[in-house]
Amino acid sequence: MNDKEIISEFIQLKQENDGLHILVRGISWPHPHEPVSSWTVASVLPQISSSQEVDVKIQKILDNKQYFQICQECGQRNPRGWMHNHVICQGCAEKNHGVVY
Ligand SMILES: [Zn+2]
Repeated sequence: MNDKEIISEFIQLKQENDGLHILVRGISWPHPHEPVSSWTVASVLPQISSSQEVDVKIQKILDNKQYFQICQECGQRNPRGWMHNHVICQGCAEKNHGVVY
């Protein structure tokens, strides 16, 4: 997934009364093979923010390890729920380390 795909899948903008909310989709695994996603507000911008300000904020969220991490094996950015640990993603854990998901 490139950043554009990550943004379209995992980031949402919502105009609310108190400003422009930037939501991030988090993934958790209450049961194996059954991911549950939930949206949380990562940031609130003023209503009148320019699209450039919004882009800068989105980039900051992408760089925030609380939400996304870069796998050190494939170099891809992944939502935290797709990371095997803090270093590698689930895909690499499966492919390169024999971990079964
Ligand atoms: Zn990887």
